[in-house]
Amino acid sequence: MNYDVIIVGAGPGGIFAAYELMQHKPELKVAVFEAGHALNKRYCPIDGEKVKSCIGCKSCSIMSGFGGAGAFSDGKYNITNDFGGTLYEYIGKKQALELMHYVDKINLAHGGEGTKLYSTAGTRFKTLCIQNDLHLLDAAVRHLGTDINYVVLENIYAYLQDKVDFYFDTPVYSVAVAEGGYQVLCKDANYFCKKCIISAGRIGSKWMETVCRELEIPTKSNRVDIGVRVELPATVFAHLTDELYESKIVYRTKQYGDKVRTFCMNPKGAVVNENTNGIITVNGHSYEDPARQTENTNFALLVSKNFSEPFKDSNGYGESIARLSNMLGGGVIVQRFGDLIRGRRSTPSRMQDAFITPTLNATPGDLSLVLPKRILDGIIEMIYALDKVAPGTANDDTLLYGVEVKFYNMEVEVDERLQTRHPGLYIIGDGSGITHSLSHASASGVHVARDIAGV
Ligand SMILES: Cc1cc2nc3c(=O)[nH]c(=O)nc-3n(C[C@H](O)[C@H](O)[C@H](O)COP(=O)(O)OP(=O)(O)OC[C@H]3O[C@@H](n4cnc5c(N)ncnc54)[C@H](O)[C@@H]3O)c2cc1C
Repeated sequence: MNYDVIIVGAGPGGIFAAYELMQHKPELKVAVFEAGHALNKRYCPIDGEKVKSCIGCKSCSIMSGFGGAGAFSDGKYNITNDFGGTLYEYIGKKQALELMHYVDKINLAHGGEGTKLYSTAGTRFKTLCIQNDLHLLDAAVRHLGTDINYVVLENIYAYLQDKVDFYFDTPVYSVAVAEGGYQVLCKDANYFCKKCIISAGRIGSKWMETVCRELEIPTKSNRVDIGVRVELPATVFAHLTDELYESKIVYRTKQYGDKVRTFCMNPKGAVVNENTNGIITVNGHSYEDPARQTENTNFALLVSKNFSEPFKDSNGYGESIARLSNMLGGGVIVQRFGDLIRGRRSTPSRMQDAFITPTLNATPGDLSLVLPKRILDGIIEMIYALDKVAPGTANDDTLLYGVEVKFYNMEVEVDERLQTRHPGLYIIGDGSGITHSLSHASASGVHVARDIAGV
């Protein structure tokens, strides 16, 4: 089969590339290959009753399938160059922001209308934070919520399905340079395309390493972020979340000078398992529909680790820490903050005594046996710092789930068109190591589609 363009991966990067190609060049023959299932077949068996924790499905429906890792996400589209990726370093700050606003417009036109756009512009919390040595980053954030995010994906798929060939449950094994384009090899067939866009996301990180090695595309190893997911009564952060929805706050620890930051805040949300290549870590999301909201807010506290020579495997380091928590807890460990600072593990009875109901069924345990001291000290210091702007954060019953790891793909060498050293081969989204978010990944898809369409 011959195509003008083959897109590998149907996450936000791949979807927006396909969408934009069809906007400008509907005559192009485009195929999307996706290792995971179609959207309506995506299903995570964890129901909190019969299946309480990750059973390691062959294809993880949280991470793979139409919608990518974003399908059951909180659908927070952060419109900012301050975090979420470094796309602006390649295409410029103005262009990056314009593309993120464009993506927002498409989402609104496909079911997201009526959702709220929050903004840090002019907020009094910036002053409150700085007075307590905390730094609130600037952003506008569109919160679609897990439910509306799903509707938007359904509508975009409905628009694309007759225009683009979708191959679900079809992992691409390799991409090779061929005369006039690329050969895309799958289990049962070989496909040819003139141009190829790879948008393999975080779950495709190991595969991307192979592709880059085989095609001699230079890469540089990246960082890993390690920490915990904090869960507390929604009222503790309500003054911040009501106005900003998500607040990205950075703190520099006094003890080590390390930066600790809040990440992925989910007001009235739920904590969930995440399975990356068989390693169970923790994440969170929340619904727009009040009927599906909980009484808790969750967010991650993360510390970035960059390693210098001779150590290169930052993801391996994060994986080892996550494996340790999986080994001790059979999955994710949960600990009350009060237990952590008293140097004792949380037990099922201490958890039952707590004045908070956890939204994830995790194993009560001791995070100090898992997290390196420096990282744990930083997290504890940040919790006390946050307690000054959101009193109650450092309460005994605040829950810490571990570990949360943000694996970053190695950064692939691409030019300002996001094209590799091979003409017509583009690497975009989280798989490129350049983006780490829905809005940046989507914007990168629009950028390459316009490049291919010549607009
Ligand atoms: C639970 C959760 C909540 C999140 N919440 C948010 C949020 O609120 N806001 C935010 O900005 N970000 C959030 N994120 C991160 C966000 O989902 C990602 O940044 C975004 O999805 C990246 O898009 P992408 O297209 O680059 O990659 P992905 O969405 O990861 O998609 C890549 C796709 O490629 C497929 N693939 C990989 N390798 C192959 C192969 N060899 N052949 C065929 N297909 C392949 C995968 O199956 C996958 O479907 C969340 C992530 C998770 C897991």
